[in-house]
Parts: sequence; structure tokens; C-alpha cells
Amino acid sequence: MGILRNEFSWSKSRNETFQSCPRRYWFHYYGSWGGWDWQSDSRTRQIYVLKQLHNRFAWIGVKVHKVLEELLHQLKKSKSLPSYQSVAENLQNRLRQDYRDSRDANYRVRPKRFMGLVEHEYQLPVNNEEWRALAHQAQTCVKNFYQLPLLNQLKNLDPSEWLELEELNSFQIDGCKIWVSLDACYRSDSQIVLLDWKTGKSEKADHSLQMGIYAMYALEKWGIQPNHILLKEFFLTTGKTREHEGKSLNLERVQKYVTNSIQQMLTLLSRPEQNQADESDFGFTEDMAQCTQCNFRKLCPKWHSGDSE
Ligand code: SF4
Repeated sequence: MGILRNEFSWSKSRNETFQSCPRRYWFHYYGSWGGWDWQSDSRTRQIYVLKQLHNRFAWIGVKVHKVLEELLHQLKKSKSLPSYQSVAENLQNRLRQDYRDSRDANYRVRPKRFMGLVEHEYQLPVNNEEWRALAHQAQTCVKNFYQLPLLNQLKNLDPSEWLELEELNSFQIDGCKIWVSLDACYRSDSQIVLLDWKTGKSEKADHSLQMGIYAMYALEKWGIQPNHILLKEFFLTTGKTREHEGKSLNLERVQKYVTNSIQQMLTLLSRPEQNQADESDFGFTEDMAQCTQCNFRKLCPKWHSGDSE
């Protein structure tokens, strides 16, 4: 294997991290680099371990997405699904195992192998009732998935009509790699339908940037114009669905937003051509709410002055 290089790229989640706190962004995309190596210095290793942690809500999202990905692969292959009961049981077992792994801090030794939760690392007070409610929320998501009328249509798709299922792909904007991962995507007549699973309780998500990026990707990959794209959002905790048509998109505005975000990130680099970043060039958020849910709080100089600056 050649030498790994930390290459600059952009994604919607990278932008969200950057906007939430520049220092958190530095920890995530620069400070953690190389921390997979046991021989890296101890701070880098610690940052790398903390980077892999999820908060309890993101954890539920990851687990439900994984289950749905497996189910859709099965549906594509065999045109049928296992019983909801067996899937629900399996999900419950996975959640229990993750919870035990996290509580026992197994992630500190193998952070990529074992689930680690911010709540355990920082000993945040979450009572049993709340943990049970989260597990119930995950089950509800899968139950609502099983009740989607869309499943009948998906069952009848020809394998060639399936385009992507949770694959990590990329395209370019102004020479910069843009990462995209579609939950599911298929062709229906002359249209491309993108499915987006939402596992949280909020229905307020702004879809325009996400959909704009998907549309630019679809245009480059399949030559599909935005007016032939349909985004379907599924709010799996409530069973509600929302549709957005691509014809209302302003791709010029989306491209401008992405280019501007890339520029903001590059401006902070000490050597942009080598993607090198100095920690002290990345400021701290003033929003306390960000800090209370931040993976890196125990290493952040804002809270431990003199640690690294
Ligand atoms: S603890 Fe706060 S200031 Fe420090 S990296 Fe996290 S969000 Fe930023």
C-alpha cells in the first residue's frame, strides 16, 4: 500500500462540522490524521479515538441506516424481505451489544471495530428509561419502513433500475473532490428517485443544499437533468413522507455555496497546496451548546488552556 495522504475534499457533513466550530473541524479532519497507527503520538491517537464516537441519537441513525441498507440489498436480490419480527430482534441484539461495548470502553482499544458513545466517554447522565426510549425509536423506524407503500414498487424493480445503495461516491466542483452518499437511488421511467431516510424526531431539515449536491452528482454521473430528479424524504419515527422535485433547484446557487465553503476552509490552511493546517489557526465556537455535545471536549484547549497552545 502506498503512503496515505490527507487530501482536501468537501462534503455536506464536513461543511456542517466546519460551520459548527473551526477547532472541532481541525480535530476531526487534521488532528486525528495518522491516529490509527499505534505508534502515533498519544494526543493524535486520542483525537482519533474520540473522532469515532457517536452521540446516542447519531448511533440510532447509523444502526437503522445499516439495517435498511441490508434489507434493500436483500430486496434487490430476492424481491422479498425477512419478517419484521426477525429484523427487530436482530436490531435489538445489535443495540445491546453496542451498548455493552461502549459502556466497557472497548472502543479505546479498537475504535473502528467497537461502537463508542459520547455519553459513556463523558459519563453523561442518561437514565435507563431514555436508553429504552431510543431502542424503541429504532424499532419504530424499522416498523414504519416495513409499512411503506413504496416497498411494493421497490420489489418490482428490475436489478438494472437500482442505481446506488449507500455507496460512497464523489464528483468534482472546481477541481475539488465532493463526497456523496445516497441512501438509495433508482430509475423509474425517465426519472431518478432518491430516497433519504430520516431517523430523528425533527422534520425541519432543509433539503435544498443536500438535494442540489445530489442533482449535480446525478447530472455528472448519469447525465440526468435536475427536472428529472425526485427526492423522497422518509421521516421514519412518524411514518411521514415528503417529496421535492428537482425542477425547483437553483444549481448555480448551490455551486456558489459549495465554492464559498471550500474557500473558507482553504483560507485557514497554513499550506493549502499540501493541505497542512496548524491547530492554533482554527478558532473556538462561542456556542456553548456545541461544546456540550462535542467529541473532543476533553482535549480542547478552550476547556483545558495550556494543553497545546
Ligand atoms: S469543545 Fe467546543 S470549542 Fe472545543 S472543539 Fe469542541 S465545539 Fe469547538
